[in-house]
Amino acid sequence: MSSIKPLPDTLISQIAAGEVVERPASVVKELLENALDAGARTVEVVLEQGGIKRIRISDDGGGIEAGELPLALARHATSKIATLDDLESVRSLGFRGEALASIASVARVSIMSRQAVSPRAWRIAADGGPAGAAEPAAHAPGTTVEVADLYFNTPARRKFLKSEATEFAHCEDTVKRAALSRHDVAFSLRHNNRVALHLARQEAADGRRRIEAVLGADFAAGMRVVDEAGGGDTALRLSGYAGAPAFSRSGRELQFLFVNGRFVRDKVLSHALRQAYSDLMHGDRHPAYVLYLDIDPRAVDVNVHPAKTEVRFRDSRAIHQFVYHAVTKALSGSAAQTPAPAATASLSDTGWLRPRPAYDGARPSFQPSLGIAQSRGDYAAFVATTRASVQAATAPQRNADDSEHPLGYALAQLHGIYILAQNTLGLVLVDMHAAHERILYERLKTALDASSMQTQKLLVPAIFTSDSLDMATAEEHAPTLHALGFDLAPVSPTTLAVRAVPALLSGGDLSALARGILRDIREFGASRVITERQNELLGTMACHGAVRAHRALTIQEMNALLREMEATERSGQCNHGRPTWYQMSLSDLDKLFLRGR
Ligand code: ADP
Ligand code: MG
Repeated sequence: MSSIKPLPDTLISQIAAGEVVERPASVVKELLENALDAGARTVEVVLEQGGIKRIRISDDGGGIEAGELPLALARHATSKIATLDDLESVRSLGFRGEALASIASVARVSIMSRQAVSPRAWRIAADGGPAGAAEPAAHAPGTTVEVADLYFNTPARRKFLKSEATEFAHCEDTVKRAALSRHDVAFSLRHNNRVALHLARQEAADGRRRIEAVLGADFAAGMRVVDEAGGGDTALRLSGYAGAPAFSRSGRELQFLFVNGRFVRDKVLSHALRQAYSDLMHGDRHPAYVLYLDIDPRAVDVNVHPAKTEVRFRDSRAIHQFVYHAVTKALSGSAAQTPAPAATASLSDTGWLRPRPAYDGARPSFQPSLGIAQSRGDYAAFVATTRASVQAATAPQRNADDSEHPLGYALAQLHGIYILAQNTLGLVLVDMHAAHERILYERLKTALDASSMQTQKLLVPAIFTSDSLDMATAEEHAPTLHALGFDLAPVSPTTLAVRAVPALLSGGDLSALARGILRDIREFGASRVITERQNELLGTMACHGAVRAHRALTIQEMNALLREMEATERSGQCNHGRPTWYQMSLSDLDKLFLRGR
């Protein structure tokens, strides 16, 4: 082993950069934080080639004194805190004093700045090493930081960068977060000389227009106001907007949480949110929200992670409860629009309606046998292919031997959601979407395991508007998408066309399906999505491919579904763990009507 030596300064910063400067978007984040900390009212972001070639951020904030310019680039030099006490009550976004030094160690950086009292601006530059001398320059009061050729001197890191479009999309997300954190600041974003965002300063305190500009009119139309102050002696307030339950998403990309103005990802807060929505939203959907938690800085530790996106609450249980109640209250105002799924819950609470897990082995005739041979798997097709086996069973009143058809025979469809069927025990209730989803899931799994995913080309492609992140994912992961049976192609800078889908799913909601797949690929990674995360992926596919509620089915189609359920492994549970059917025996019904037998 070689002897112990102190590391050179630049190398220390390069190591720190590994944590702080993960990609161009992290540079954008740090520079935006500095601009906001400097009191900027207007921030301009200019990017070239996804920020890899150039990031230039200008602000009209307080500026840096000429003599302090070299210090701005020095490691562990900050104007924001000076003592431990300052750190513990920090209100600024930055405080570590290492962002600019880290960035300057892996890119070419220049800072131009002028304080309002100063007659001229000064400029300082560094090329991956020590900074040169400050020179006079022309600049309005405020600061411009330019970061060029990211990772020019650390090629190994450069290899981790994704396509220009993906990196730009991440930068754009970062600017949006900053814009949501400060409605009173104007933001603009240009990429390769095109305007990508232009957000005027908002004077109104409620920030509705900023929210609408960033999250879209659909979100704004249904969002619920959250505004709740906590009791106790510490200042605590949750404000902002919770998306309507109907505005659910397949991913978490529209979830914005700010703690004292800082965008964070926090398990305690997101868990409280998930719980508040849990009764109103299907398990695999995610709510959208923009929420601001203001809390005494002493009750939260922001110095947990170098990128400062995590926090630790001193009393996380109290915070959890507070947030849960505040959001539940905001959402309950919407009872009229969101029918609570209370009926089933209370029925099963009474004890007379119990889920009967299907095919528990007690009945020998339930042999799982997967029918995956169909090349066209949409609902109508599977009905057609199973029709032959159903032919004999279409008379609803016929009391056939249950050992042959344990789920019995369909009587009717209830509100487009449930199938009512009769078997010798009594009444069978089937959630048709959940049941179909389970069948598709098993078929997809078999097809994927056997590498025999059949693709169906669409005569009329399904078109959907997509953000730049979706566009980039579709382009970058085309091979994975092909392996899964998808063909997605851009038709404009903001539109994707679904040109082919797995045949089993061609009857579903194709744009929702495509969006869900892109989100899974992004969230789990292209290779993991087909290996470790396969079940989640198949769940997404099955959910969007399954027959939707409110689709009228004929008695024949319903019976076909019952027969498919009998033939499918584990069809008693849908992929989200919900039951797909209930048995209500005649004696259950008798009890309900207090009819002694
Ligand atoms: P930190 O933000 O943690 O203090 P940075 O490395 O990001 O550390 O910045 C170092 C210092 O440079 C800041 O403390 C601040 O004084 C100064 N600075 C950086 N950017 C700006 C800006 N846009 N306007 C004014 N001052 C700035
Ligand atoms: Mg900073």
